[in-house]
Amino acid sequence: MSNKLLDKFGREINYIRLSVTEHCNYRCFYCRDDEHSPNCKREDILSYEDIQRIIKIFAELGVSKVRLTGGEPLLRRGIVKIAQLINNIDGIKDVPLSTNAHLLEKFADKLHKNGINRVNVSIDSITPDKFKEITRGGDVNEVIKGIDGAIAAGMHPIKINVVAMRGVNDDEIESMIDFAIEKGIDVRFIETMPIGSAGIENQSQYISERDILDRINKHLGAKLIKLTPSKTDGPANNFKIKGTNSTVGVISALSNHFCQTCNRVRITAKGDLILCLGQEDSISLKDAVRSNLSDNEIKQIIIDAIDKKPEKHEFNSSMDNISNRQMAEIGG
Ligand code: SAM
Repeated sequence: MSNKLLDKFGREINYIRLSVTEHCNYRCFYCRDDEHSPNCKREDILSYEDIQRIIKIFAELGVSKVRLTGGEPLLRRGIVKIAQLINNIDGIKDVPLSTNAHLLEKFADKLHKNGINRVNVSIDSITPDKFKEITRGGDVNEVIKGIDGAIAAGMHPIKINVVAMRGVNDDEIESMIDFAIEKGIDVRFIETMPIGSAGIENQSQYISERDILDRINKHLGAKLIKLTPSKTDGPANNFKIKGTNSTVGVISALSNHFCQTCNRVRITAKGDLILCLGQEDSISLKDAVRSNLSDNEIKQIIIDAIDKKPEKHEFNSSMDNISNRQMAEIGG
């Protein structure tokens, strides 16, 4: 059995985004439906043992990076223990975290000591009222305290992710960049994606990568130094900002298909393996690890699943395929 996970398009899958809970303390309007709240029992969610076994099997198949996400991962009881368990698995070299940072101040130091070296923080506005509106109740001051906690704990790099939305927060593109520069951290603007009914409804606020880049250019001009993309970055749209410790970039799932460099799959909190963000199909790894199957039999299930990974997402032509699953369940 090979120790590399290759799909039929020759892409090596070495990165898992693992959602550890469906619950979130924020309810960003573009991410989760107003009515949608998770209703799963404890036994529906992958246990520590399930997670450890699944990630160990993936590591034996060549996966080296596991990003913890959610829902809001810091709401999962035992998140530090999960970080530690995953970090201790042979072959796992990188365990970053995606969080809204509301609780990060409290957790940053413990997480860092247990192998979470870097973090992505979602923050779509630094204006308290607007932030509250977007997140339906969130407190941007707590998020900023969380970012400061991550800086103090020594996490690096720290990246803020901003979903850019016309008429919502597009007036803050420049101030979000200045905020990142002031903190010495990185900023990425994300095109809003039509995932789940909330995401599909938000497409009327879509701003293209081109428009965002124009704004960044106007604001920073000659200070932008193009960064060479890593193998999995897709098109080159990340820049170092001269004279600062920060970088700025745009993540554009719609303007650009960077699917040819896709190296990832997702696992939901309920243990479903999702091969592509733009596809409704999934395979239950929870059922697999809770059955009598051996590790080798589960490896074969994973290898067969990876073989079905689609060549690219089809957001524009087949939105119906992805309208049922909310982004908050998939983990972004
Ligand atoms: N709670 C964590 C956080 O806030 O980062 C992790 C989960 S959240 C679903 C992950 C990311 O998905 C966030 O950066 C969020 O802004 C992004 N996201 C959610 N819905 C989206 C959409 N429709 N289009 C683009 N990004 C989206």
